[in-house]
Order: sequence, then structure tokens, then C-alpha cells
Amino acid sequence: MSVSENIKEFKNNLPEDVTLVAVSKTKPVSEIMEAYNTGHRIFGENKVQEMEAKWEEMPKDIEWHMIGHVQRNKVKYMAPFVSLIHSVDSKRLLKEVNKQAKKVDRVIDCLLQIKIAEEDSKFGLDKNEALELLASEAFQKYENVRVIGLMGMATFTDNENQISEEFKKLKQIYDSVKDDYNFTHLSMGMSGDYSIAIKHGSNIVRVGSAIFGERNY
Ligand SMILES: *Cc1c(COP(=O)(O)O)cnc(C)c1O
Repeated sequence: MSVSENIKEFKNNLPEDVTLVAVSKTKPVSEIMEAYNTGHRIFGENKVQEMEAKWEEMPKDIEWHMIGHVQRNKVKYMAPFVSLIHSVDSKRLLKEVNKQAKKVDRVIDCLLQIKIAEEDSKFGLDKNEALELLASEAFQKYENVRVIGLMGMATFTDNENQISEEFKKLKQIYDSVKDDYNFTHLSMGMSGDYSIAIKHGSNIVRVGSAIFGERNY
């Protein structure tokens, strides 16, 4: 099936209250335009410079979401246009986003990435670090970032029980803070596990290969 058929079918099967971020990392503009031309406007990238290049070349009504680990010295390149950063995984990164957003007179929406997977390689805060950040005096003073929810990635495994447990854990953390901080976004689920994530309360899924096909790195 083509990209346009894939994305249309995927969205037809998605519950109405779940947002799709079409993860276009490594994919050429021509293929992303095929998805765009079906009416889709939300795309996710995991490298700042690749996202910036695509933003420059593509229609300006696209919402670009950053979903990958961000180095602080790269924040300035996306501050003028990024619409949601899913992957804020440290206090220092949030501070830098606030600083760069201020320079361009924007308020940038962010999610805190929570580490729920068992692998060491996955970035993210643990629950206590996230709570501490949200309660910190520094955070209260940031006027150019808005933390609107949480993001997490489950362990890459065939064990659906384990994936369920990890998403359940993130949902519990989300529920325990969402009223205090007016959270609206729980970003969990990728091509291999989005249906489990939705079952556990995800309302924004990040899906790449199920739409664009496998990536060749
Ligand atoms: C690449 C990526 C995705 C999408 O992965 P697929 O398995 O291709 O759907 C989702 N989230 C993050 C953080 C990613 O880096």
C-alpha cells in the first residue's frame, strides 16, 4: 500500500480523541508530501537539523513535533517553529527551551519524557525527578514553556504483558499529576504497540513505519 493509503486507513481506525503524529524521520520530503496531501498536518522527527531542513522546505501549516533526545545546543534551531517537544528529559533542557523560546517571543509546549522501559538506553526522567521538576521554583518562573503532559516509550519486546505494565505505570503517574498541572497530553505508542498504549489511555501516538514503511538507516 502507498503512504497515502496507509495514513488514511490508519486514521480511520484511530479513536477520535487520539491524535496521530506521523513520524517521518529519515523519509524524504516527497513521501511526507504524500501524507500531507491527504490532509494530515502533524509530523514527528527525532533530529533537530533534519526537522529544520524539512520545515524550511515544506508548507508552513505543518505542526512539527520533536520526539527524540535533544542536545541543548540544538534547541535554538527549532525554537522558531517547533509545535510540541515530546522528549524533555532534564531540567537543564527545559531551562534552555525556555530561554530560546523567549528569544523568539514564543511559548513552546513540552511533554516530560518519563523512563518506563527497562533498557538503560531509553532517555527520560523517573517519577520523582519529574515531580521535583514540576514543583521547583525555577520551573514556576519559566514563562516561555508550557508543560502539557507526559511521554514514554515501552521496552522493545514481544511481551505484551510487559508493555501493558509499563504503559499502565505511566498512566498512573499521569493521572496523579494531571489535575494539578492541567495536563492534556499523554504521548505513548508507536507502530508496534499503539493499540496497547491506547487501551491504557494514550491520547497521542507516534507512528512511523506503519505509515511510511520500514526505515533504511
Ligand atoms: C522512531 C520513533 C517512533 C516511531 O517508531 P515506529 O516504530 O516507526 O512507529 C516513535 N517514537 C519515537 C521517540 C521514535 O524515535
